[in-house]
Amino acid sequence: SSSRIFHSLRPNVPLPPPSQPLSLTDYALSLLPAAATATDKSAIIDATTGRHLSYSLFLRQVKSLASSIQSLTPLSKGHVALILTPTSVHVPVLYFSLLSLGVTVAPANPLSSPSELTHLVRLTKPAIAFVTSAVASNIPALKFGTVLTDSPLFLSMLDANVDSHSRAPGVEVSQSDSAAILFSSGTTGRVKGVFLTHRNFIAVTAGYYQLRTIQQDADEAEPHPVSLFTLPLFHVFGFFMLVRCISLGETLVLMQRFDFEGMLKAVERYKISMMPVSPPLVVALAKSELVNKYDLSSLRIIGCGGAPLGEHVADDFKAKFPNVEISQGYGLTESGGAAARTFGPEEFKRHGSVGRLSENMEAKIVDPVTGEALPPCQKGELWIRGPSIMKGYVGDEKASAETLDSGGWLKTGDLCYFDSEGFLYIVDRLKELIKYKAYQVPPAELEHILLTNPEIADAAVIPYPNEEAGQIPMAFVVRKPGSNISADQIMEFVAKQVSPYKKIRRVCFVNYIPKSPAGKILRRELVDYALSSGSSK
Ligand code: AMP
Repeated sequence: SSSRIFHSLRPNVPLPPPSQPLSLTDYALSLLPAAATATDKSAIIDATTGRHLSYSLFLRQVKSLASSIQSLTPLSKGHVALILTPTSVHVPVLYFSLLSLGVTVAPANPLSSPSELTHLVRLTKPAIAFVTSAVASNIPALKFGTVLTDSPLFLSMLDANVDSHSRAPGVEVSQSDSAAILFSSGTTGRVKGVFLTHRNFIAVTAGYYQLRTIQQDADEAEPHPVSLFTLPLFHVFGFFMLVRCISLGETLVLMQRFDFEGMLKAVERYKISMMPVSPPLVVALAKSELVNKYDLSSLRIIGCGGAPLGEHVADDFKAKFPNVEISQGYGLTESGGAAARTFGPEEFKRHGSVGRLSENMEAKIVDPVTGEALPPCQKGELWIRGPSIMKGYVGDEKASAETLDSGGWLKTGDLCYFDSEGFLYIVDRLKELIKYKAYQVPPAELEHILLTNPEIADAAVIPYPNEEAGQIPMAFVVRKPGSNISADQIMEFVAKQVSPYKKIRRVCFVNYIPKSPAGKILRRELVDYALSSGSSK
């Protein structure tokens, strides 16, 4: 019933009229405060190399790259560009210029294995790939080939002599055009391509712009915000935080590869005020003695999301860093941005909650059995609706229809409730998905690989709780008669075929895999069994 719809309690955010042609690049840069270019603030700093990119240079490079792409490649509006590059100052430039041309960016993990890459290429049908030379040999031949982002050609594309006052590339991008394909397994099965439009991200960015305005009214004296990104830029969290930082004229510090002490050094050196992180980093900060070696006093806020943050972890963190606020956020690749978050000193104190619904967002809590929408304080599956929700899964109508209902509701696969004050609590995950350090590990993919081993008769993969990583992938394996394959051999067999974070880290041998009459793996039974049999490996 409609009375059981939860509405955002935050002021509504006005969005541009949907029919107005507008790319995410043009929208984000229209918000950029004049001061950012006038004072020549650093847009991006690479903490690994120490390289700075000022806002004026950033804008020039975005234009230069766009016009070079137009003149040197046949790439145009509607094409998909696969991007496989480690974090660097080039990545934001590449995103913004491709988006200004109406080219869909499909960024993925540069550590993807060859078979994972084959799957991504099949899903997204890219016309071109932007990759480092280390990855290039794993990419199949594409229509317009491959651009090496560590080559002199690419650098010359960034530096082509373009007048910074020149017109935009002259491409008309509709807000409903696809901006990005990001990857998620959704509630079940293998990795799918999540289709997110320019408007989806315009809505997310508009929300942050409004929050900034509210915050500035409350705190005139706030110093220039400097954010440190340890997040991968190919994941939705890194992607929208990047757009957020640039559109607000903040300084974004990147690390090419993560190391904990390097991160602490960067906080001290660049006087970092904000860090978007996933929970394992909050655990590490709360526990580590190393933090005492560095001056972290500039840090004001940790934006934490992507996986559950234990309430006691947040408490321990606050005890150690009383002056740093934790802002929790909850979202999915399919929601384009944070569907809920805490904002402001009162909400930050709610350590067990992921906050209140974001601007322009609606939600229902649906009883998984009866389909009934439930009132506050009752648990059910969270459904969300709003302008940032994906258009669907690329080329997969079945999965799209199962996930997005005809009324525009996205079924999150998370078991949740709202309290009487509108705070959202994530209780459990109903969907198969495993999150290792907030990275997605789809069990179906690992099960598929396990079943290709001639010594394995049947297999199932489930999440096993782990303090450092949140969850680790654990395999239940039925050996073929006569096989003596060991747990180590099985882990090695899988590790060779997947990205490092998808490795199986625990194996249990069983006589059969429990299944429903329809043949569905009874994962819950396996999880309960794994938890009750504790230390067996
Ligand atoms: P992804 O698409 O990789 O962002 O994964 C989305 C899923 O991560 C959600 O459906 C949740 O299961 C989980 N998740 C994300 N943020 C949180 C959070 N703050 N607390 C608990 N779970 C979260």
